[in-house]
This record gives sequence, structure tokens and C-alpha cells, in this order.
Amino acid sequence: MITVAEADRIIVEALPHYSTEKRSLKDAYGAILRQQICADRPQPPFDRVTMDGIAIRSLTYCDGVRSFSIEGVQRAGEPAKQLTQSNACLEAMTGAVMPDGADCVIKVEDIEISDGVAHVQDGLSLSPGHFVHKMGTDACAGDTVLEAGTVLTPPRVAVAAAFGAHEVRVATPPSVAIVSTGDELVEADEKPLPHQIRLSNVYAIEAGLRMRGFSNVDRHHLPDDRDRIQDVMAGLLERMDMVLLTGGVSMGKFDYVPETLRALNVEERFHKVAQRPGKPLWFGIAPGNKPVFGLPGNPVSAMVCFRRYVLHHVNQAMGLKNKPDTASLAEAVSFTPKMAYFMPVSLAADGSGRQIATPLRTNTSGDFGTLGLSDAIMELPADKTEFPAGYVAPVYRWD
Ligand code: AMP
Ligand code: MG
Repeated sequence: MITVAEADRIIVEALPHYSTEKRSLKDAYGAILRQQICADRPQPPFDRVTMDGIAIRSLTYCDGVRSFSIEGVQRAGEPAKQLTQSNACLEAMTGAVMPDGADCVIKVEDIEISDGVAHVQDGLSLSPGHFVHKMGTDACAGDTVLEAGTVLTPPRVAVAAAFGAHEVRVATPPSVAIVSTGDELVEADEKPLPHQIRLSNVYAIEAGLRMRGFSNVDRHHLPDDRDRIQDVMAGLLERMDMVLLTGGVSMGKFDYVPETLRALNVEERFHKVAQRPGKPLWFGIAPGNKPVFGLPGNPVSAMVCFRRYVLHHVNQAMGLKNKPDTASLAEAVSFTPKMAYFMPVSLAADGSGRQIATPLRTNTSGDFGTLGLSDAIMELPADKTEFPAGYVAPVYRWD
């Protein structure tokens, strides 16, 4: 049986390099950005008013003036107007350009307007730039605002849009067939008989892929029937770039996946990793350099192996630069088997911003209700059995 590190190395060496494509920003959410995005103009692009109120010269207020005649209105979306009199003001709206001749804004709550004059409260501490977001203070033109190799999360989509990157170069995700096997399994919308259970793994796997922008994903369910598995798999290996199987990779009498894959000339690269959960993990390469993962059927094992190996390595091969986070254990953990332990944890930040991982214990590796409460899985190495509170290890987040 190989170690987690050996499994990692074998997968990394075998995975193809995925290509890139231009995509409209509106379809790029969740994708891995493969270009740098630079500011095409300063941010903000002008001195921007940040409060509805009046724009004045701060010195005039400091000299004791409290009433300012209103010369006009500076609306958002118009070029800068000119404040002509030093003891006057322009009404200014949030998002407007700061009028020329004014240097600060007094918010609407601190003024009263009557007969075209704004009366301002005493005791305000005003200085130039008050309620003004100065041009170029967030970014200068030419600054890198998004690095290649990051996931396009909603805030990053906003950054790309703000700098005019309406088309972006992203990694092209492989097309993926997700195949569940097992006579006992029925779809989530079917009413199971007492001896049946609903499919869950494949829904989780599909969700995990779609979250990262994989759009060409389809699902198939197969009974534990050698010929049928072989037939369907032959077609899928032809059509799709990658196949993820769940179930049928253990030592049961009807676990036909490894032998079927061999019959289809899928070259086995490893079967079984010294880890819990997920020991039966199978990995191979089909003709045409197509990765095939045989994930264990057990729901916790399937999800852990999917997150830790499939999503992690395929995303890296697609150009994702982020390394897994680390977190420190909230309490001591002991795990005596000489294998890596993937432990569900909930994460929280402590006062200094460090991530703290609280173990969530599962009763068996089939307890996926607990996994539903977790934020991540923590990887505890095989060469130790005792992990004191404060021990730092990698965490693979679900989001
Ligand atoms: P297997 O690896 O085929 O021996 O399956 C191990 C356990 O996982 C069995 O209890 C199966 O019923 C369950 N299982 C297999 N595939 C799935 C699936 N797609 N969704 C939920 N449970 C599954
Ligand atoms: Mg099975």
C-alpha cells in the first residue's frame, strides 16, 4: 500500500496540462483565472464623494463660517463642477466627482437647508479629504489587481468588471463523467425500498465540480454487473476527458470496477492508500491520457478522496496556485493506525487571525451527517499517533 505522498506524486505526474479559453465574465464565476488582470485606470478613477451632503472648502469651516449658500448640485455621473465662492457649497451626492474648489464633504445628517443656504453644526472635525475617496488610493493604472491562478469568486468577478475585463482567460475544465455503482442505490427523487439507499456521493461530487466552474459534467448509475459496467465505461472513456467512479473498488464479491477498468486498458497506477477514510482509492490512466479515479463508495471516503485528491490535483493542473490552508488543532487528537488520518473539522479564527480546527468525530466512516457540519478536512500525517492541541496541519475546505 502506498502513502498519501506517493499517491500525490503519481497523480501529479499523470494528470494532463489543461488548456485555457476566453470566457465572458458573466460565465466565469468559479473558474480558475489564467491571466493577470491589471488596472486600466486608477481606482477610484477620480476623487469620489462618499456621502450625500455638501462639498465645501474645509478652511472656510475652520475660520468659523457655518452657513454656506448653495451654488448648485454635483450629481453622480456628471463632470466636476466648480465651487466659485469660498463661503459657498455645492450639494454633492455619493459617487459624484468632488467639485473643483472644494476639498471635503459634510454629510447630510449634519446640515439643515433653508432658503438655498446650508447651515452646518458646530464642532465637526473637518480636514481636507473628509468623506472623499481620493483618486488612485486603491490602485494606480497598471497595478496588478488579480493574479493568475486564483478562483473567480464573486468579489474577484467584481474586480475584473471594475477594470473592464469583460472577457477573461480561464482554465478549460475537463469534461467529467461521474459514475456510481451499486445494486442498492436509487436516485434522490425515488422512494427507496427498505433495503435500498439513496445515492448521495454523486450529487456531492457534481456539486463540488460545478462550484469550480466545471460545466460539462454528467452522471450515470450502474448496477453491480460486470458486462454492463464495461459497456457503459467503454463509451464514457471514449467521450469524456475524465471519469470518476464511486463504489465497487473494495474487496467485495461484486466490486467489479478494478477488473473492468483493466479489461478496458485503463492502466492502473495505484490501488489503496495508507489513509483513513478512503483506503480503497483506485487511480489509473485510460488510453488518450484520461485520468480515472475509482473512489470508495462509502460516503465519507468518497467525499474525502474527491476533495483531497480529485479536486485538489485537477485544480492544480488547471493552474490554481492556492495551496491548502493550515489550521491548528483546538484539542489533542490521537490516532494510532500507521496511516494518514483525514479528519472532519470546523474552522474558526482566533483573536490573532489564526485558523483553529475543532475535530468533529464520526462514528464510522459512513457517518456523513457529521461531514455536513464540517468546514474542511484536516490531514494528519501517518508518521505520528499523538497530535497535541496547537498542532498545525493542512486543511482542505469544502467551499
Ligand atoms: P462499495 O464501495 O461499493 O462497497 O460501497 C460501500 C458503501 O457505500 C455501501 O454501503 C454503499 O451502499 C455505499 N455507497 C456506494 N455508492 C454510493 C453512492 N453513490 N452514494 C451513497 N452511498 C454509496
Ligand atoms: Mg458497491
